[in-house]
Amino acid sequence: MYNESPIIRRPSSRIYVGNVPIGDGAPIAVQSMTNTKTTDVEATVAQIRALEKVGADIVRVSVPTMDAAEAFKLIKQAVDVPLVADIHFDYRIALKVAEYGVDCLRINPGNIGNEERIRNVVDCAKDKNIPIRIGVNGGSLEKELMDKYKEPTPQALLESAMRHVDILDRLNFDQFKVSVKASDVFLAVESYRLLAKQIQQPLHLGITEAGGMRSGSVKSAVGLGMLLAEGIGDTLRISLAADPVEEIKVGFDILKSLRIRSRGINFIACPSCSRQEFDVINTVNELERRLEDVTTAMDVSIIGCVVNGPGEALISDIGLTGGNNKSGYYDGGVRQKERFDNNNIVDALETKIRAKVSMMANRIEINDTTK
Ligand code: SF4
Repeated sequence: MYNESPIIRRPSSRIYVGNVPIGDGAPIAVQSMTNTKTTDVEATVAQIRALEKVGADIVRVSVPTMDAAEAFKLIKQAVDVPLVADIHFDYRIALKVAEYGVDCLRINPGNIGNEERIRNVVDCAKDKNIPIRIGVNGGSLEKELMDKYKEPTPQALLESAMRHVDILDRLNFDQFKVSVKASDVFLAVESYRLLAKQIQQPLHLGITEAGGMRSGSVKSAVGLGMLLAEGIGDTLRISLAADPVEEIKVGFDILKSLRIRSRGINFIACPSCSRQEFDVINTVNELERRLEDVTTAMDVSIIGCVVNGPGEALISDIGLTGGNNKSGYYDGGVRQKERFDNNNIVDALETKIRAKVSMMANRIEINDTTK
């Protein structure tokens, strides 16, 4: 079957970020990071809610100062989605956000300072059941590693990650996930491959500083696609110089294209050509915009003419094939008598898709009650 993913996930242990399971076969969680000032509670809460609306499973928030930690307390009280606090160096901030209910700490144990501080943070994480994300980045490798390897290499990123992992191992703490991000696709991919062989814990994927909306999405899709296809990766963030909401959408699109995790509509659309019987590009763009709120997984094919239309419609939940003045409509792969006026395709398809979404939701409810 070509609509099922052939990917076999790498076995890993499981952690929980709030109520979101990560690793051990759990759905790959999609996350992003706020870019508002954390001290601007209102703006940050609004951005987190916008991310939640498009499906973010987890949101990361920078907490660089004690003022930001106080703001974090208010933010945490105002949202439902699990929050990761991005801390880096100051162990006191880690302890503070732990007190305020943080769901995960993004902090590298080796950067905290002396042993006592590290132990304080790890003991607190153990007490409160808070996982840690170790995050290594090709752009900020330790000086000794840069001296040793001369440049960021997969081995250098791995060694950096393992330094932090070894600290947590020594303190008997295994509730962590690790990332080894780089802006270069091959560097990131090879680093993750090496890391996947070394540890049991879940891996957080990302091509860091990937670029703008278009180029960053492509770079992320190529890099993460290689890893995900090999079964590597338990959660991901797409790093774009763009609205974080786009990061979530791109993350789901990557998972959707590999059939690893479905959310919302998977549009199958032809590029269109002079044979098209209606405006394919505008139809698809408009429907993508109107149906952003749909979370039910569904394949919808929108094809400009009969060259490829019937074939795609046969394997889609809903299909449209361009015809002269009126276009053919398929439901569940079956051609329907009803045809759509080519001047009213967007409205007609939206109605059909929403009806199908409700029907599928009802079916899921009925199945649930008969279990
Ligand atoms: S399906 Fe028809 S309209 Fe679409 S690209 Fe192919 S030939 Fe052109």
